[in-house]
Amino acid sequence: YAKTMGRNGYRFYAESLNKNAMKFLQIEGCLRNALNNDEFSLHYQPQVCLKSHKIISVEALLRWESPELGNVTPSEFIPVAEDSGIINDLGEWVMRKSCVQAKKWMDAGMQNFRVSVNLSSIQFKRASLLNMIKRALDDSGLPASLLEVELTESAIMNDIDQNITRLNQIRDLGVAIALDDFGTGYSSLSYLKRFPINTLKIDRSFIITIDTDPEDAAIVEAIITLANTLKLTVIAEGVETHGQLKALNRFHCDIIQGFYFSKPVPAEQITKIVQQPLNKDLFAQI
Ligand code: C2E
Ligand code: MG
Ligand code: MG
Ligand code: MG
Repeated sequence: YAKTMGRNGYRFYAESLNKNAMKFLQIEGCLRNALNNDEFSLHYQPQVCLKSHKIISVEALLRWESPELGNVTPSEFIPVAEDSGIINDLGEWVMRKSCVQAKKWMDAGMQNFRVSVNLSSIQFKRASLLNMIKRALDDSGLPASLLEVELTESAIMNDIDQNITRLNQIRDLGVAIALDDFGTGYSSLSYLKRFPINTLKIDRSFIITIDTDPEDAAIVEAIITLANTLKLTVIAEGVETHGQLKALNRFHCDIIQGFYFSKPVPAEQITKIVQQPLNKDLFAQI
């Protein structure tokens, strides 16, 4: 990447910056034109209902293939996009594209098939958010009931009262709201009751050790019980093994998302995967 840096004239400074800062600048430079140059795509990860054993929804996840940098992961570029404000245009692109895709699935006969879209805290703070979502729904023709947005705890934990108003406006559109990476933020459980949310997504870090660490298992079981009490749908993120699935089934988790069933894949593959029933062996002896 010395070439890229040289071309942008950063080279002289590069030596005095640490590696992370360099990477950040590099990504920022390439990110500016990435949207116009059509370098982004969306992958979709199946969410499987533990009762019906069917894929009932997907989460849209951004992918960036940069000509200069190659594949850059969201964990690397989302923070840069947030810092530079690019997340607003990028997030709108994700929303519009996800709605258009979900409408295609609907028209193809996939009944009640929902798409979930991640929202950055930066997007959530913007006054224009509501209209952005409304336009994406109107222009695509997607019923609001087939859209869910995902927000992290940290995105909504400050300015509680204002955020509750905000969330209610989104809910009034008919859009569902999921709390992402649940358990990793400042879990003010008392607020959970006040937030108008539909879904809790248990963070992968608790799932990884659910069948080996009794304490993590207890935490997950408690979260699921809490979700049930509050009438929230609960999704386990990052499920990779049969053992994890078995534990989650025992705790009556509603929905499973993870490599055990499928990695995030392009839209065409979702259409194919959904057409055939999931392999029975995946659910054997759970
Ligand atoms: P997230 O919203 O919590 O998304 C789930 C992440 O976990 C995805 O990573 C997904 O590929 C990964 N994952 C799913 N199942 C498994 C599993 O079984 N094992 C493992 N090891 N990983 C699994 P990804 O796609 O790299 O995205 C990372 C994060 O970047 C997302 O976390 C989300 O916070 C952010 N992100 C991705 N796309 C968008 C977007 O369109 N907008 C915004 N604002 N953020 C996004
Ligand atoms: Mg998410
Ligand atoms: Mg998550
Ligand atoms: Mg995450």
